[in-house]
Order: sequence, then structure tokens, then C-alpha cells
Amino acid sequence: MNPLPEAGQGLATVADCLSGDCLRVTPEARYRDFAPGQDGERVFVVMDGERFLGLVSLQQAALFPNRLFADLLVTRQPPPLRPEDSLEHALDRLEAEDASHMAVVDAQGRFVGVTSRLMVFRCLRDRERLLHTRLQSTVRLLEEELTHHRIASMVFDTTSEGIMVTDAEGTILLVNRAFSMTTGYAPDEVIGQKPSLLASGRHDAAFYASMWKSLSQTGHWSGEIWNRRKNGEIYPEYLHIDVIRGKDGRPLRYVGVFSDMTEDRQLQARLYDLAFHDPLTGLPNRALFDERLKASINHAQRTDSPFALLYLDLDRFKMVNDTLGHTAGDELLRQVAGRLRETLRETDTVARLGGDEFAVILCSVREREGILTVVRKLLASLRRPVQVSDREIWLDASVGIAHFPDHGDSAEKLMQHADTALYAAKSEAGPRWCFYEPGMGRRAHERLELEGALRSALETGEGLHLAWQPQVDMATHKPRGLEALARWTHPALGPVSPARFIPLVEDAGLAVRFTGWLIEAFCADIATLPHAVRTGLRFALNVSARALHAAQQWLPLLDEGLQRLGLAPHQIDVEITESSLMDEDRHAAPLLALRERGFQISVDDFGTGYSNLGYLMRFSVDRLKIDMSLIDGIALNHTSRQIVTAILRMAEALEVEVVAEGVETEAQRRILAELGCHEAQGYYFARPMAMNELVRLLEDQTHPH
Ligand code: C2E
Ligand code: CA
Ligand code: CA
Repeated sequence: MNPLPEAGQGLATVADCLSGDCLRVTPEARYRDFAPGQDGERVFVVMDGERFLGLVSLQQAALFPNRLFADLLVTRQPPPLRPEDSLEHALDRLEAEDASHMAVVDAQGRFVGVTSRLMVFRCLRDRERLLHTRLQSTVRLLEEELTHHRIASMVFDTTSEGIMVTDAEGTILLVNRAFSMTTGYAPDEVIGQKPSLLASGRHDAAFYASMWKSLSQTGHWSGEIWNRRKNGEIYPEYLHIDVIRGKDGRPLRYVGVFSDMTEDRQLQARLYDLAFHDPLTGLPNRALFDERLKASINHAQRTDSPFALLYLDLDRFKMVNDTLGHTAGDELLRQVAGRLRETLRETDTVARLGGDEFAVILCSVREREGILTVVRKLLASLRRPVQVSDREIWLDASVGIAHFPDHGDSAEKLMQHADTALYAAKSEAGPRWCFYEPGMGRRAHERLELEGALRSALETGEGLHLAWQPQVDMATHKPRGLEALARWTHPALGPVSPARFIPLVEDAGLAVRFTGWLIEAFCADIATLPHAVRTGLRFALNVSARALHAAQQWLPLLDEGLQRLGLAPHQIDVEITESSLMDEDRHAAPLLALRERGFQISVDDFGTGYSNLGYLMRFSVDRLKIDMSLIDGIALNHTSRQIVTAILRMAEALEVEVVAEGVETEAQRRILAELGCHEAQGYYFARPMAMNELVRLLEDQTHPH
């Protein structure tokens, strides 16, 4: 900014308005010698050499043209002006003396020149003009200044950065709007206060000391600082402080400019979340889990505190995902994550490693029993039914357990061993959990080998055959139906239970191929039955959810077989599990295709699954097969009997047939008969057997010896 002109500067003095319009004459000269022109404001300066004697005006001289100028100097000469006299003073003097001209002499009395009223007036006019233009430019400058100031104050108030100005003592003088927005304090609440009003308490004295040191040494400081808003919330800000010094170099003002970093932090946190958390469940992901596991190992080694690593895998998740769709699967995983978190302590870590695999670090558990208590709690929490899109789903899970330091001293080893233990827990009957044991890895390997063997068995048909089990009339004990049950004899291991190899078929994606083999064997076996026996029976075959989904691929095969055998469609009984009915979208069409052909449909393992009866009844099924776990308890506990009674009543009302499965004892048979169950299957009546064996049995029954 340009400085304003100072008062007096550039103002004219007598020296500036000397009139050149004067004639120097000697005392002995006369007016007539000059015959000067008429116009102008002439004055005669009478000089005796260098000595100034006085002034004679033109009019006076013209009155007496023949007199000597010396004689004309009769009137008293007024004291001359000085060059440095102001114009106002000169004008006053000229008026007071009633003179048109006055002489100007310097301090030594030397003649400098002559000034006149006219000259002074001109000078005054010039000076006024000058002052006027100066004033105008000053006004212009001031206006510019004002605009700048306005812009500055607008910037001050509209910038998103908070600004605080304090005096040298740190008393707040000024804050802007962003300051108020960020801190929650209105200007009048902070002006006059100290900035410590905002202190969060997160920084120690050393922090502030180093800030002051930097301010006094370099004149500024910048860095991140935690402050507290009026509402008590603590927030991070990036703060830059400048010192403004006075002319003497001492601090005059401190200007702090800051930006609220809460959102940056939130963004960072979100990025961190994305990198280290599973977006579906919000649980830590594998990367974060690995880190925590390593940290746990370090901690455990330092403090000698053991911990357990759990691998957890949902047992029927694949099926839920396949039958109900991915949205339901996602929802299920979210709920599972919630339950795991609820069951575990804050200090434990639970992560989702992918799919339906979860991992847990259990801190400070020393005893096997302590670990098992938590594992049982976890499993129990998962066994409560889960509500997913209007349906109740019963879940189960398997847990593999590795212990630090007993089962490995590195993250890799522990993970590997927990995984192996999980594999064992899944593939073996018994409890759904398993501690790692040396040698387990071999069993996992065996399972892979088993899968390979099964694959080649399906290609050649070698080692595979069917066993048939009658479903008998409770009154006559005569078979009404025959259920085909798959059997596999491994070339080296011998017979493998279907409970073991059927899941393998499903997991290895062999369901359709297996069903193809099944139908062939099914038809081939039935073909061996004498025609008379064949026509009076129902033939049941088991179809998994996955196989049902792919019904279009094997139905033609079945159609063809039936035609060859001359069987009526209602003689075919397709046993499906409840879960197959769950995904209406996927299984509506296959079920309809079965219905259209006139096949019968039975719901297998009824009473253990996850849908309620009301839901099941939306599908027209012909038969419910009450699961053997319920029949097992019927003679022993009241609950099982009540459930079976309820199922029988309901089925009767809905006109659905019932088969009781797994009847082993006379007591069970009797109770079932009393409860009004008409059909049963079980070792009590007959074990599953090869078709040729069964033929003999049936012949014996038809022709008793
Ligand atoms: P499931 O369909 O419920 O078959 C009945 C199972 O109970 C058979 O076991 C049968 O041998 C057994 N069982 C029958 N009566 C009794 C009894 O009185 N006591 C006891 N403890 N058990 C009895 P299996 O043959 O080992 O089959 C097990 C499961 O494997 C079957 O259960 C079925 O889910 C599956 N499975 C068997 N064959 C096939 C098949 O061809 N296709 C499909 N998808 N699954 C099959
Ligand atoms: Ca069955
Ligand atoms: Ca069953």
C-alpha cells in the first residue's frame, strides 16, 4: 500500500512564487529611461550594487517619470519576506501592507527576489489543485484498501480453515467462522480467553514446550494436535502457527490456522477397515488375523501365556448358499459373525478367513477344559436357529483346535494344524470339535485319496452297488416299499459308509454323475425282481439337493428305465431332504417335473431339519419319514414321543403318509403302532441288503415254508 502524503509535504512557500516580472534598477535611474510596456504587474527593484534598497511600483514610477528612483523610495519600505515563509503569511503581509509586491531576502539579508499578490494567489491555486489531486488519489487508495480489507475479511470468514489470532500474551483477539464451526465456540465465548480452553489433555507439557520453543526460534510451528470441542469431543487438527513481530522484534500477535482432520482420519480409518476387515461381516480379515496371531505368539512367548487357535467352519453353509441363494447366505454369515462376537470376550479375536471359515484366537486359556468350554459355548450359540428371509435355519459348525505352544510355535504351523484338526472334526463322526494331533494331516490326505478313488469308482462302477431296505406295513410287516441305499467298497479300505462318501460326492461336485450311476443300478436291480413282486411295490431313491437342482440332466434316464421296466410312475418314491424344499426358486421347477411325471415325493430325515411343518406343507409331498433320532428316543423320553405324536396328528390332518425310520426294538414298534403310525423301516424289520438276498426274503414271506 502506498503511504499517504504527510501534511506540509510538497506545499509551496514564498520561495516557490517569486515573480520574474521585475526590473532591477539603480537609484540614479529614472522611469523615462525604460519606457516599459503597459501591461503586467511590473515592479522596480532598486539595487545599489548588491544592496537592496527597496521597491517602486509601476504606477508610482509612471507618475513621476523624471525623478530618480532614489527619490521615489520616500515611503517606508516594509520588512521583506523570507523565502521559507508560508503563502498564508505572505498573503497576510501583502494585505496588511496593502502592497502589490514585496521583496524576499534570505537570512543574510541578501536579495532573493520579489513576490506579488498575483503570484501568491497563483501558487495558492496550484497548491490547492495539487492537494486536490493528492486527495483524490488518497481516496482512491483508501477505497482500494477497503476492498482489499473486505476481501481479506471475507476470506477470513469463508475459508474452511479455522483461524485464531491472539496477542503476545496469548489472549484470543479474533476467530473466524470456521473456528466456530469446528470448535463449537462462538466468537464471544472465546475472545478474551486463552487457547488452552481447547486443550484436549492428550498432550503433555513437553509437547507444548517444544511448540513454544519452535515459535520463539523460527517464528512458526506446525503439526498435528488433538483439541477438544465445546461438546467435549476430542478431534485431531493440523495446526500452523505464525508469529507476527512488531518493529522492535518482539512478538505482537500469534496467528493460528488449522484444519479439522476428523474426516481425513475417518477416511483413513475406512481405508484401513477395507484393507483389514471383511466387508460382509465387519470382522477382521485374513491379513489382520495373521498379524494378530503373530502378535499373540510374541506376547505369549514374552509372558508365558498360552492361547488357542480355533478354526471354525459351518457344516451346512454350502447347501444354504446353493438352495437359498447368495443373499440369504450373506445374511446367514452376518448373523453367525454376530453370534461369535457375542460369545467371545473382547480380548479374543474372531476373523472371517473367507467363505464360511472363521478363525478365533482365544487368549490365556491354559487347560484343555477351558478351551472346550468356550468351544461348546460357540457351537451352542450357532445351533440356535437363524432367521433368514422368513425362514428358520438350523446350523451346525465344526471346530479345529490348535494350542500354543503345544501344537506349533509359528503362525503358519498353528494355522495349518488348526485347519487339519477342523478337517478331522468334519469328516469324523462324534463331537463337532477336534484338537490337533500329530498324524492328522495324513488323514486329511487320505480323504483326498478317497475322493480320487470315488471318482474312478463312478467311472467304472467298480465297488459300487445298492443295498435295499424294506419299508413295512406295521400291521402285516409286509413291505410296501424298498429304499435303495448306496454302498461303496473301497479297493483297499473295504466298505465305506455312505454317511462318509455321500458328502464327498457332494463336495467333489460329483452329484449328477453319482445320480446317473444310481439310476442305472436302481433300474438294473429292480429288473431282477419277479414281475409279480415288482408291481406291488414302491421303490425309493435318495436325491440330494444338488442332484435335485440338476434334475433335467438325469430325469430322461429315469424315464427311460421305467419304460423298460414297465413300472407305473407312482411306484417311484423320490426321497428328498427338507433343505431341498427351502429354495423354492431353484427347486420349484424340478419338483414340478417330478410331480408331472406322477412320482411320489417323500421328505427324508423329517424332524431334524430346519423348516417348520407349516412351511413344508406348501409343497404337496406324499410322505414324511420321521428321523431315526426321534424314533430312537421314543421308548425312553417323553419329548421324542410328544414330537412324534404331533407329527403323526398333523400328517393325518394333512393326509400325508408317515414312515418311521430306524425302528430297532419291539418297544419302539409297539409305541409307534399305539400312536397310529402305519409304516416303518428299520433293523427290527430288516437290514439293508443286496437285491438278490431281498428277493429270497420276499419269496420266503410269500411262500412260507
Ligand atoms: P437315509 O436316507 O436316512 O437312510 C437310512 C439310513 O439309516 C441308512 O444308512 C440305513 O442303513 C440306516 N438304517 C436303517 N434302519 C436302521 C436302524 O434300524 N437303525 C440304524 N441305526 N440305522 C438304520 P446308510 O445306508 O448308511 O445311509 C446313510 C445315509 O446316506 C442315508 O440316510 C442317506 O442320507 C445317504 N444315502 C445313502 N444312499 C444314498 C443315495 O443313493 N443317494 C443319496 N443322495 N444319499 C444316500
Ligand atoms: Ca432315505
Ligand atoms: Ca432318513
